Amino acid sequence: MNGWRAVRWALLLLATMNFPIEAGLDYLLKPRRIAPDTYVFVGLAEDFSRSNGGNIVNTGFIVTTEGVLVIDTGSSRLYGEQMRRAIAAVTDQPVRQVLITHHHPDHYFGNQGFRDVPIVALAGSIGGMKQEGGAFADNLYRMAGDWMRDTEPLAALQEARPGRSTIGGHDIELIALKGHTQADLAVLDHTTGVLFAGDLVFWQRAATTPHAAIADWLAALDRLQALKWKTIVPGHGEPHADARGIAQTRGYLKWLDATLRQAAADGRDMPELLRIPLPAEFAGIALARQEFDRSIAHLYRDFEQNVLSGATRQ
Ligand SMILES: [Zn+2]
Repeated sequence: MNGWRAVRWALLLLATMNFPIEAGLDYLLKPRRIAPDTYVFVGLAEDFSRSNGGNIVNTGFIVTTEGVLVIDTGSSRLYGEQMRRAIAAVTDQPVRQVLITHHHPDHYFGNQGFRDVPIVALAGSIGGMKQEGGAFADNLYRMAGDWMRDTEPLAALQEARPGRSTIGGHDIELIALKGHTQADLAVLDHTTGVLFAGDLVFWQRAATTPHAAIADWLAALDRLQALKWKTIVPGHGEPHADARGIAQTRGYLKWLDATLRQAAADGRDMPELLRIPLPAEFAGIALARQEFDRSIAHLYRDFEQNVLSGATRQ
């Protein structure tokens, strides 16, 4: 091979090497129609990684005759932009408003793709975005790498007002709850019966608890269960037409609460807790072990503290 041919081969090789990297930065977002006018991008039951780019969350949209309502924007600028293109492939209606269910980064880091429309969240969520957005971004850049390019945590600017209003033929209710975080917004479309539950409901993917208040969360699940809906879109896991996600999340949280409470009462330390087996009903849930271990780190000190303060009171 002469010198020139070698250079051409090298260039060709470089080109083919570069191509899959660029092509790989495609979330391949395919909207799934789950009810009239209502679509979900169903994320993977995985943790953030360089292979999934943070496509681990459910986002969705409702097409009304007065514009599109978007629910959550995914985990990166790229996700938000690609989501918006996927919405535009379904409808000519412009995006009217973005509703963010809570301040965790996989639910709002795609906001840059919607910066020209009102982005709405509960006041507590907006505060959380402002306070923790930077730390979340550091973490996601580390875990998802290139996918995060040019992503900035863009906080919602408009405060959500809970209540019911008719938008373009859809009777939409915004419900203010808490427990997964300090502020969790559920969106119920009474016209179709679709409930976007955010991360108050997980299905076949273990619940995350960095900002959890378990008693509040259980109360929120009771509220959701009592509402009239036909289909639930959990924050993570397949949409479904019954209360199985609510039941599983409730069962897991009750077990977690009881387990940590008992361990604290018994004076067990964290390393001991990390070794306990998960009950069979939860062991098969995606990421159950990792999330349980994380939950110990998030929550156990408070349980220990409660035992100590109980002891001093006596
Ligand atoms: Zn969350």
